[in-house]
Amino acid sequence: MRRFLYRIVQFMNGRYGHDNLNLFLLGLWLFLEIIWTISRFWVIGVLGILVIVIAIYRSLSKNIQKRMYENRKFMNIFNSLKRNINLLRRMWRDRDSYKYIKCPNCRAQLRVKKVKGEHRVHCPRCNRDFQKKI
Ligand SMILES: [Zn+2]
Repeated sequence: MRRFLYRIVQFMNGRYGHDNLNLFLLGLWLFLEIIWTISRFWVIGVLGILVIVIAIYRSLSKNIQKRMYENRKFMNIFNSLKRNINLLRRMWRDRDSYKYIKCPNCRAQLRVKKVKGEHRVHCPRCNRDFQKKI
């Protein structure tokens, strides 16, 4: 058993291994497998195989720089999506008492009280004031 583990460690030496993109691909593969098991639609089965092959290829790859670059791009997209979803959740939660507006100078998202009328809004990011009718 020890010898077997040693051989696995030796095999993985210099290879990329596991990252967030691979974790996502494994989740996607699992999801596709469940859908395929229910529907038996061959396209979903082929997609599942493709996704798991990519995940295995990525973890066994020796081109570590390229895999890190792919993971960084994936994390940028993932974090951007997460930020947007959180913003939408906050907008929905505060919909009765706050309004979300964008600063015309720096495009920062600002939250202002929902009081009808013309308001002078101060942007903390670019430190400028602007008028906004709510
Ligand atoms: Zn601003």
